[in-house]
Amino acid sequence: MVVTETLARPSEAKSGLPKIKTALPGPNAKRIIADDERLISPSYTRSYPLVVKRGRGAIIEDVDGNQFLDFSAGIAVTSTGHCHPEVVAAIQRQAGELIHMSGTDFFYESMIELASRLSKVAPMAGPHKFYFGNSGTESVECALKLARYHTKRQGVLAFYGAFHGRTMGSLSLTASKPQQRRRFAPLVPGVTHVPFPYAYRFGEGKTERDYGLQCAKFIEERLFKTTVPPEELAAIFVEPIQGEGGYVPAPPEFLRELRRIADENGILLVADEVQSGAGRTGKWWAIEHAGVEPDIVCIAKGIASGMPLGITMTRASIMDWVPGSHASTFGGNPVAIAAALASMDVIEREGLVNAAQLGDKLKKRMSTWITKHPMVGDVRGKGLMLAVEMVKDKQSKTPISKEALEQVFREARTHSAWLPEPVPVELLRKATNEAYHKIS
Ligand code: PLP
Repeated sequence: MVVTETLARPSEAKSGLPKIKTALPGPNAKRIIADDERLISPSYTRSYPLVVKRGRGAIIEDVDGNQFLDFSAGIAVTSTGHCHPEVVAAIQRQAGELIHMSGTDFFYESMIELASRLSKVAPMAGPHKFYFGNSGTESVECALKLARYHTKRQGVLAFYGAFHGRTMGSLSLTASKPQQRRRFAPLVPGVTHVPFPYAYRFGEGKTERDYGLQCAKFIEERLFKTTVPPEELAAIFVEPIQGEGGYVPAPPEFLRELRRIADENGILLVADEVQSGAGRTGKWWAIEHAGVEPDIVCIAKGIASGMPLGITMTRASIMDWVPGSHASTFGGNPVAIAAALASMDVIEREGLVNAAQLGDKLKKRMSTWITKHPMVGDVRGKGLMLAVEMVKDKQSKTPISKEALEQVFREARTHSAWLPEPVPVELLRKATNEAYHKIS
């Protein structure tokens, strides 16, 4: 179970608490799902039959009039809640003025405005430069190409459990589930995966700090001395908190060691903040919790509250490629940029404090579950990017069965009074890859 953030608008959250009117899925949902099966790519991982019509704050309404708490935040995207009025207004204003002109071939001022705004909250010292694409995977593709271009090196390091995207470059860095890579080889050559410090599951009793240091040591003492000459590495890609990999925060000591290893070997450190960024952890970027300055930051998901936007932010000296090296027709679309500027206003004004304070409160409360409940193995995360890892028993740490998980959610549905009002969070059900469930 994973907790992610949104800002509910109090009046709407109070009046709109979950209401279930039909059996689920309802008749309209059933019809649409049948059509979907006929027409839409079966590669999507929709394991729950929610057919969405509209959303407000933390509430989502389906096509049969049922209302749910959106426990997924549109898969960690609706950082300001669904259809935040300021974001909607900014989108409408911009759509009435200019929808597209292509920032790859022409200029518009809002692109500079967003770059300047991001520069002020960057996790590394400036000056900075920015590339605009449309998605998380594009921000990673850009970082990968740029790292090779700038360093004139080919090799790249990434971590087991990592998720960086599904296009061929970012997929080559992804090491989360075999199905994501199955039958797509050959992928981009030159990528080496090494252990990520997921201490709870793989640390064999070591503290997070010690296991983190062990994983960093493995890179220097085993990898560099056996198969990968460090001078051939262009970049290390790391999620400061692994998302798809199980909401696993990298220990600060590990990130600091990566920074040192990168510095000593002329390697770029790339922080993939697609999931952990945009204020979700109580700071703009999760890597800030470790006091580590990356060279490149990949941004997407929550930055524009649902409008497609991917951003690659670098130290200015790194973005030294020449015209024609990389671009995207839609990247940095004016409407997406307007949504990002409005989202940044909301996140700056309310979101950071909300995520930090509420996250702290939630984590404290959830941490008490470890001693109370045999099946709560671990509680971890930062801000409102929190997770509960559920296990059969604390000794074996075997993941709980699907049936047991169902039971947990049934209980949650009947004991939902603990949810504070206004409803400030969504719980994202990640363990079984289900995005939504109802609370009635
Ligand atoms: N990087 C991380 C850390 C992600 O979590 C994701 C998506 O979940 C991506 C990259 C890819 O983003 P997108 O799905 O927008 O391409």
